[in-house]
Parts: sequence; structure tokens; C-alpha cells
Amino acid sequence: MNCALIFVYPGRVRVAVRLRPRNAEDLLSDADFSDCVELQPELKRLKLRKNNWSSESYRFDELFTETASQKRVYDVVAKPVVESVLNGYNGTVMAYGQTGTGKTYTVGRLGKDDPSERGIMVRALEGIIANTSPASDSVEVSYLQLYMESIQDLLAPEKTNIPINEDPKTGEVSLPGATIVKVQDLDHFLQLLQVGETNRHAANTKMNTESSRSHAILTVYVRRSVHEKVNDEIISREKGNRSDLFDGNNVPIVRKSKLLIVDLAGSERIDKSGSEGPLLEEAKFINLSLSSLGKCINALAENSPHIPTRDSKLTRLLRDSFGGSARTSLIITIGPSARHRAETASTIMFGQRAM
Ligand code: ADP
Ligand code: MG
Repeated sequence: MNCALIFVYPGRVRVAVRLRPRNAEDLLSDADFSDCVELQPELKRLKLRKNNWSSESYRFDELFTETASQKRVYDVVAKPVVESVLNGYNGTVMAYGQTGTGKTYTVGRLGKDDPSERGIMVRALEGIIANTSPASDSVEVSYLQLYMESIQDLLAPEKTNIPINEDPKTGEVSLPGATIVKVQDLDHFLQLLQVGETNRHAANTKMNTESSRSHAILTVYVRRSVHEKVNDEIISREKGNRSDLFDGNNVPIVRKSKLLIVDLAGSERIDKSGSEGPLLEEAKFINLSLSSLGKCINALAENSPHIPTRDSKLTRLLRDSFGGSARTSLIITIGPSARHRAETASTIMFGQRAM
């Protein structure tokens, strides 16, 4: 068996927390400037204040204070996933948190005027492009929005209700009909991301909703030609029809993998008592997808042989990109303000389910 198949990453999700800097609203509302959280990155510990006297501590894999740079967040959270994707494994990076806490800033920021502001999507593509060869490899992307259990193509917004297909033999997930574009270079990718962002905004205006109510999913399909050392058994099996391709024990192999980068819908509880009709439906769907994501993450953390991905389209989409040999990173975004303490606590608890 080749060594790439023997080495399997543990399925557990790695969880990082990122604290957004105070904004003007926080400064106005929190007269005493006391944050509801305290991050102790060196101890990988987060303290959530209950009141002036007591707090609760939670452990995470990584903590980013409000001064952490986009580069550092990428290097720690996403780069290891990108590297394993380049080695032929699927991977996922997701941002989870209340609206306004920095999910889109962390994953989707284009950084047009200032490259240091670029988020995970742009940096991941930069890393993948730098480590692939246009002559022998291919890098393709699709960009989708998942809203109320319906998938829309952000690169061709007239395409809605895109189905999810799962190969019964390989378990490979695909989206028949979704636009897949071959990426030429980073500028080309920045243009695609901009098109997606514009379409997302237009679609949400048309549906009279907010982008915070939908999940945005970028998929990067990587195909690489590599030479791998294999043992004699494989050589004698394959040699019949491919003897011309063999160079000693080095066999040319095409490695296919994909990276999913997900900007999740806002995790805040929508006040169901006050909502009715479409808003209530919307709330139910968001709760469904985020709670089924939570169940899957929990099952991964417990090393359960069964990951319940069937319950929502979000988790069905992720099915072949987390668990097993896939690497998954979850970045939890929170704000400092005491006025959002309850939401911040529930976001932290979501992250804890993966630990
Ligand atoms: P979300 O996508 O979770 O709703 P955004 O990413 O849109 O939140 O962030 C809300 C606002 O806060 C934006 O204006 C964004 O630029 C700003 N912001 C978020 N995180 C940071 C950060 N780490 N540093 C500076 N500004 C940030
Ligand atoms: Mg956002």
C-alpha cells in the first residue's frame, strides 16, 4: 500500500477562537470597558466572565486576541489544511459566530487596497497556486450560497436549487450543474471572488434577506500530477498496460482533493416568538443546518464511527471533506462586548462541542 494511504489524520476538528477588536458601538454601550471574555493565548484558555466575581474557563486549540493579524490567523488555522489538501486530502475551514463578529473579515476579506488584510480564501488560493504547476496541475473553484436549504451558484446566480450528488461507491460529493472555473492566477481568483460577493449581495437584496442569513461556500478543486514510490505488488499489477510510464518504482499518479472554505450564517438566535412566515422559516433552516453541523462536530470529537451528515444540506455538502482522512479547522469569532454575553457564551459552547 502506498504511504499516503497509511498515514491518516485524526478526524477531530481543530478549534480556534478569534476576538474582534472593540468597535464604536461597543465603546458606546460598555461604559466600564469591561470585556465579557479574557483570552490567555499562552495557556490556550479563554475565560468567560459571569459577573464581576466569577468566570468560567474553556480550553481551545488556539486563541487569537484582537491584535492578531490576518496572516497569523491563516498560518495557524488554515495553512495546515491547505498543505494537506496539496498532499491529496480533502479539507475544510469554517467560520462560526454571531453576525458582526468577523467571520467574513476572517475568511472572505479581499484586501483590494491592502494585501495584509486578505482573508483565508485569498491566502489559501495564493498558497495553492504557488505550490502547483499550471503545466501539469489544475486549480478550479466553485462558489455557492446555501440559503433555506437551497443552493445557489454565486458565479452564475440564475442557477438555483443545485442538487447535491453523492457517488454511492466513492462517497464523493458533487454538485451537478454548478459553475466550476479554472483559476489562472491570483488576480483571476480575486475577480471571481468579487463577482461572487456582488451576486451574493444582489441575490439577498432581491430575496429581501441579509447575507448573514446564508452560508457562503467556496470549493477549491485541486488536481496534481505527482510521482509516488509504490511497492512491487502495485507495479506488477499495473505494469501490463502502463509499463511505458514506469521509472523504477516511481509511478505517475493524479492526486485529486478539495478544500472547502465556509462563511457560515450568523449563529445568533432569531427571536422566533416575534417572527412569523418567511422569517420563522428562515430561522428554522439556519437552526437546522447549524445544529446538525454541531452534531457532526460532536460525533467527530467523540470518535464516533457514525457522523450524522444526512440531516441538512450543509452537512451533506461537507460529508467527504470532514472526518476520516480530511482535516477540519473551525474558527469561532466573538466580540468583546458584555451586551452580547449570552450569544458569545453560546458561540463558545458550540466550539467546545468539538474539543
Ligand atoms: P460577520 O461576517 O461575522 O457578520 P464581519 O466580518 O462583517 O462580521 O465584521 C463586522 C465588522 O467588523 C466589519 O466592519 C469588519 O471589517 C470588522 N472586523 C471584524 N473582525 C475584525 C478584526 N479582526 N479586525 C478589524 N476589524 C474587524
Ligand atoms: Mg458576514
